[in-house]
Amino acid sequence: MKTKILLDNKSIDRLITDLSAELEKAGVLKDDLLRFRLSLEEMLLDYQYILGKDGEVLVRTSIKSNKLEIRLALLGKEYNPLKESESLVLIKTVHGWESAPSYQYEDGTVGKNILSFSFRVRGSLKENLTFTWKYTQPSKRYLFIAVLLQLISVVFLIIGPILSARIIVELTDVAVYQVILTALVLFAVNLLSAVLMAGCNWAYNVVYNKTLTLLEADISENVLRIENKEIEDNGTGLFIQRLTVDTSNLATAFNTLADNISQICQYVGILAAMLIVSPLVFVVVVILLSTQIALELRRQKVSRDNGRVYRNHAERYTGIVGEMVRGGKDIKLLNAEGQFESELKDRIVSANDSRMKWDAGNRRYRLVISGIREGGALAFIAILAGLLSAGQLSVATALVLFNYYSKLGTPATALLGTILDFVTQFNLSCERLRDITDDSLFPKERFGSIHKTNLNGEIEFKKVSFSYNIGKLKTSTRWVLQNLSFRINPGETVALVGRSGSGKTTIMNLISRLYDPFSGMITIDGINIRDFDRESLRGCMSVVTQSPYIFQMSIRDNLRIVNQDMTEEEMKNAAALACIDGEIESKPEKYDTVVGEGGISLSGGQRQRLAIARALLRDCKILLLDEATSALDNVTQDNIRKSLDRIKGKCTVIIIAHRLSTIVGADRILYLQDGQILAEGTHDELLKSCAQYRELYEKEDKQ
Ligand code: ADP
Repeated sequence: MKTKILLDNKSIDRLITDLSAELEKAGVLKDDLLRFRLSLEEMLLDYQYILGKDGEVLVRTSIKSNKLEIRLALLGKEYNPLKESESLVLIKTVHGWESAPSYQYEDGTVGKNILSFSFRVRGSLKENLTFTWKYTQPSKRYLFIAVLLQLISVVFLIIGPILSARIIVELTDVAVYQVILTALVLFAVNLLSAVLMAGCNWAYNVVYNKTLTLLEADISENVLRIENKEIEDNGTGLFIQRLTVDTSNLATAFNTLADNISQICQYVGILAAMLIVSPLVFVVVVILLSTQIALELRRQKVSRDNGRVYRNHAERYTGIVGEMVRGGKDIKLLNAEGQFESELKDRIVSANDSRMKWDAGNRRYRLVISGIREGGALAFIAILAGLLSAGQLSVATALVLFNYYSKLGTPATALLGTILDFVTQFNLSCERLRDITDDSLFPKERFGSIHKTNLNGEIEFKKVSFSYNIGKLKTSTRWVLQNLSFRINPGETVALVGRSGSGKTTIMNLISRLYDPFSGMITIDGINIRDFDRESLRGCMSVVTQSPYIFQMSIRDNLRIVNQDMTEEEMKNAAALACIDGEIESKPEKYDTVVGEGGISLSGGQRQRLAIARALLRDCKILLLDEATSALDNVTQDNIRKSLDRIKGKCTVIIIAHRLSTIVGADRILYLQDGQILAEGTHDELLKSCAQYRELYEKEDKQ
């Protein structure tokens, strides 16, 4: 859909109705639809207030894989979110919708006011299978073997009832020799069928394991590439649940499908045999099965919606469990077990309630289906008895038909239920994994194509503005940095100083591209950092944060992750520069000591020093130290400062340090206040020129 409307009440109303209809047709959930209607209406009325009734909206909807995207471009008088009052709600500003007219703001920047909504719509089974096939394809040989073996075993399964009926007839005729012969054939058929099934299970196992390995590796890789902001907003539980449960559901897809298809072949064979033996019995069986199939289809639809609600609750539950395990120590020390337990209970209750609702829906339908099935079995026997007494069927044929029905009646509907349940689960898991591999719901970090390995380390901020909450529904934008400009020369050591919350860490986050600026540009050696490829950008800088993550592996391996080729000497040198060599050497296993998860068996100060050693091992042109020595005593901190003095001039260093004594020797100090540079200069210059800096320094001096 592509349309342009005026921002008057009537047009807004019609647009919302039209878009809702389109979303409903695409299968968007009722709750999402309602939320969309309400927020869009509020948004458009907000814009009507700003742009006036003559303002226009350009609307475009598109479906890409399993996402339906609605984009609205607001056209009217100039509106720059950087300058408007903060009360205005801005959903999302996307640059890149080429056909939407852009605005030239007074300061020369160009932008478009674009609202963008993205909905997950149901992917078709075919799309989902194609997605899964990517991971199963490398083991297609084994899949082929499994399906072939299973199809061969179908033939035996059709022969079985005929042989059984023959044995009964021969027994009634007391034909001992024939009975033994037929029994031997039946034994051989069953044995062969068992061997085929064992081979088939082995082949499926291979397919399952290979598929799961590829799938888990790809999803993990994708999760690592997701923008930091998305992980923070959504919590880790969501990703853990998808990586563990959904990948395994998907890996079973082709096994289950192939398994079920061969069973279907068997039932088709049985139905064909029935049609030949007795058309009347065939018609009765088809009617009975169709009723059950219709009910199963209905059950599946209800089950799919309830299943999706349950999975969302399960993700919230996994999220809090993850936090409780990771933050267990802090929870105990904060004496906050009570609050966590009650939150946990709430989430368990909602997950269980939705699970029960899901189960209850299935149970109700299954009860009705079993009633019809049992009634059907009764009717079938009555018909057989009628035909026998009327002389229209021989005893042997009646026995074969009865055998067939017992293989078909109950198992066929049960099989159908299994297939439909499986398809529901499969589609749900697929949608959730495609959310991760697709870009629209969890955008991935994007890098440019410029590859440079010998950068000098000149950093420049050009009119950079940034907010953490742009793009969130119903929150007013709070700018952390506004039009910030500064330049750092190659080899210069610059300290960022300012009150807590003034934007220091944000500057580091932007340089390392954990976030991107809303407007303006950051360059390294004159090149926009967005244009560098991942390796050039992240490879040219080492970042040490206040609470660095130390992995659950040996100290040596923790250091090796940044430099695979490090020599023993380089490793020990880096540890010595970071003043942690003595403590490592005093441990019984020295560098092979395995540290607990997150470096739990190390002190805060040891973690920081190990991270500094890790950063120094990388030998980068840019070193970003964000409160990297905050947990150290003054003497150790001074020793590290001396170590850093040794690399002074060789690389660009940006330091954030709470203790000003650690940065007095910096070439330049930038004093930040509310995301703006209030003053800059050396320590001595700032003591004279900046009252706020002097106050911070004097207060620290008195402590
Ligand atoms: P500083 O390092 O100077 O203490 P920060 O750059 O960490 O300041 O934070 C600047 C502002 O941005 C603060 O108001 C803080 O609350 C906010 N902020 C920081 N990180 C996030 C985040 N991940 N999400 C939302 N707001 C954030």
